[in-house]
Amino acid sequence: MSQSKPRSHSTPHRQSQGGKDFRKRVQRDKATTDTHTPQANSKPRVGDVSAKPCITLKEGREKSLQRRHPWIFSGAIDYIDGAPKSGDTLPVHDVAGNFLAWAAYNADSQITARVWSWHEKDVIDANFFRTKITNALEARRTLAISKSGNGMRIIHGESDGLPGLIADKYGDVLVMQLGSAGPEHWRDTLADILQELLSPVCIYERSDSDGRELEGLPKRNGVLRGALPATVEVLENGLRFAVDVAEGQKTGYYLDQRDNRAFTGELAQGKDVLNCFCYTGGFSLYALRGGARSVLSIDSSQEALEIAQQNIAINGLDSSKTEWECADVFEALRKLRDQNRKFDLIVLDPPKFAPTAAFAEKASRAYKDINLLGFKLLRPGGLLFTYSCSGGINDDLFQKIIAGAALDAGVDAQIVKKLHAAPDHPVLLSFPEGAYLKGLVLRVAS
Ligand code: SAH
Repeated sequence: MSQSKPRSHSTPHRQSQGGKDFRKRVQRDKATTDTHTPQANSKPRVGDVSAKPCITLKEGREKSLQRRHPWIFSGAIDYIDGAPKSGDTLPVHDVAGNFLAWAAYNADSQITARVWSWHEKDVIDANFFRTKITNALEARRTLAISKSGNGMRIIHGESDGLPGLIADKYGDVLVMQLGSAGPEHWRDTLADILQELLSPVCIYERSDSDGRELEGLPKRNGVLRGALPATVEVLENGLRFAVDVAEGQKTGYYLDQRDNRAFTGELAQGKDVLNCFCYTGGFSLYALRGGARSVLSIDSSQEALEIAQQNIAINGLDSSKTEWECADVFEALRKLRDQNRKFDLIVLDPPKFAPTAAFAEKASRAYKDINLLGFKLLRPGGLLFTYSCSGGINDDLFQKIIAGAALDAGVDAQIVKKLHAAPDHPVLLSFPEGAYLKGLVLRVAS
């Protein structure tokens, strides 16, 4: 089948905005609406510089910590004693001097400190991190994640009690992502512990997410331990995926969608499938293996599409049933509508349109746009798998956006399943921000 000419060689990250016009609109608004920037950071008062470093909160601002939310915003801080450096561990006190937490300090971030521990007796050292990482690994063993293959998120930041630290495992390669000053400070210790506990052939550091800039940290990308094999692959539910840990998006692959991809595969038999924002072909491969009649996959990254096609080949799947298009999905969907193309199953898994609530309004319009078009391209009785990985859009708002899209598309649709990230991406109850990925499976009336 045909492979259209590449339009763009960029590799936009899922974290970034999708859709060119949308991107421009958001960029313009960013300066005025995004408060999570170093520029917008109102610095806390300096206390006694000769005293032991300590953060003292304003009166009443201890409540969120008492509910065990791990972030301390600069606005909650009354003053900071001593002369701490970013990454240092500081005690946090309420205004009466009561201990609240040990936290990693970052002078350059709007989130001035992130909590390591709620216990005064804890010492934040290599042993502390060894225990935390061991607990995270134990949780994954309990959840039997390795039954589905050799890829897994072994550390999921705040939700595993390790704010700012992500570690993904692809076979015997580990990819570490440091998103804030705390893990940055403990970088070598963390790498040593991971090496000791998991003996990977390589620990690769992908500390190049956009969020690093908001934390005042430089981007870093390279081998931390061992040597990177020429090819890295992850085995997932019997399918093999090549993972570009050095240049691919996030840490190279989207482990969070593992179970949702499998569910798509189960429902694909005999269907014409459209996979939008396909990256390296995750949903497409599952659909093909599940017996899809045809699969059209669209992404704006030519590099990702090339890996996707390699993935079809290494799994021995029938490439004659596949069609690939390097395009902006916002434009491609309109083209398909104008061509009167129809599908039985559509996947919409766009990048993060709303990193924070400040982007929610603009992002809502983008989600509505693609979902409205998606509904229009479905045959009666067709299925829409639609996702949002935006922290700034909660489950309720997402469902409302989709309801509005169905209404404007003139279709009746039912939610047949609600989806979230796989269990190796847990959500700490006291940190609802961790529930970034939400999905709906909708069936339009026949
Ligand atoms: N579903 C994938 C992950 C999708 S990540 C999986 O299961 O692995 C989001 C993808 O959207 C990325 O591959 C990125 O290149 C692509 N993308 C971002 N903006 C886009 C746009 N406007 N049009 C098409 N693709 C876009």
